[in-house]
Amino acid sequence: MERDNTIFEIIEAEYQRQLKGMELIASENFVSNEVMQAMGSCLTNKYAEGYSGHRYYGGCINVDKSETLAIERVKRIFGAEFANVQPHSGAQANAAVFFACLKPGETFMGLNLDHGGHLSHGSRINTSGLVYNPVGYNVNKETGRVDYDEMESLAIKNKPKLIVGGASAYSREWDYERMRSIADKVGAILMIDMAHPAGLIAAGLLKNPLKYAHIVTSTTHKTLRGPRGGIILMGKDFENPFGKKNKKGETLMMSSVLNSAVFPGIQGGPLEHVIAAKAVAFNEILQPSFKDYALQVKKNASKLAEELIKRGFDIVSGGTDNHCMLVDLRNKYPELTGKMAETALVAADITANKNMVPFDPRSAFQTSGIRLGTPAITTRGAKEDMMTLIAELIEKVLNSPEDEKVISSVRAQVNETMKDYPLFAW
Ligand SMILES: *Cc1c(COP(=O)(O)O)cnc(C)c1O
Repeated sequence: MERDNTIFEIIEAEYQRQLKGMELIASENFVSNEVMQAMGSCLTNKYAEGYSGHRYYGGCINVDKSETLAIERVKRIFGAEFANVQPHSGAQANAAVFFACLKPGETFMGLNLDHGGHLSHGSRINTSGLVYNPVGYNVNKETGRVDYDEMESLAIKNKPKLIVGGASAYSREWDYERMRSIADKVGAILMIDMAHPAGLIAAGLLKNPLKYAHIVTSTTHKTLRGPRGGIILMGKDFENPFGKKNKKGETLMMSSVLNSAVFPGIQGGPLEHVIAAKAVAFNEILQPSFKDYALQVKKNASKLAEELIKRGFDIVSGGTDNHCMLVDLRNKYPELTGKMAETALVAADITANKNMVPFDPRSAFQTSGIRLGTPAITTRGAKEDMMTLIAELIEKVLNSPEDEKVISSVRAQVNETMKDYPLFAW
């Protein structure tokens, strides 16, 4: 058979796009060659429904070993007693926890999508909001920070079975301790979705939610810099509070309820090639160099926020504790929507995404903000000096978002700059 040039030309074009641009999408990163090799390996050929030592298929001797290694390594990173590394994505990890903890129609709480929350935390266009009954909490209008007092009164009023913390566009540390006390007060399970800041948590730069939450979920491809996928963790296993029993009539531990929720609950065969790549990434995270990387991500984000504020940009909550920030464009550019800003920046090879800001008067398709993050560009070796340049270039583009000349000159400068920052060497 002939090589499928059509698709490989598309992949080459994407490689060039990644190589030339400044990647500021807060949820993206660049994996190592070894992570990619594992992902592109023959493990994709293997069916392995079930868990190591208890599979529904023969020939699992090798994938049993790599899945066990992935579990051991991620447990070591976060100090977890339990890990499931099979969820195909972050949303799948969350769906499995919901499936384990809630019956259809039961109430749970999560941060509203337009306040920084994630689709899988109760949006009406996601199963989380269609199958279960979501009650959304918000950030405070003045501070831009999660309003824990509102969370508490909503919890007392609505008696949720599950309270979910974590976000996709929130630049501040969470008060997990307060959330746990709210959950305990109303008898709810506390789940923290650390999909975004997990890498900074792994490096010890942010609080570890496993100490406070019953269950923690994450993606593996954002600040953790692994392959696209999800994980479920517990700091400590416990007896499931739902009365679920095994055939002998013994109360099941939560670990086995969660394992069953992933498979056979919501998934079939695990992606063993991706799980092997997760194991590779977890080993990279266990190396001292990952701490340096995570620290630089945080420093770069602080610097970028500072430089943007200097230029009159409004950052929601006034700054960042982590790797990302939400820029509210309304005061500096009242006419400019997030969508227009995204289009102009992408044309200049500065990739970012439009995002709603809290209390946004515009729709999710237009928005009044853009979200910026430093994990990907830091993997390429960017330091604080590049953050000054990025702030400068963003202002230049947004001052003249429809000026072809300005955009092409910024693009040329971006492409020239990025020549000195390799894609897969770190
Ligand atoms: C990115 C993200 C997810 C979903 O991850 P996918 O792998 O895209 O399904 C879940 N929760 C939060 C908070 C996220 O930011």
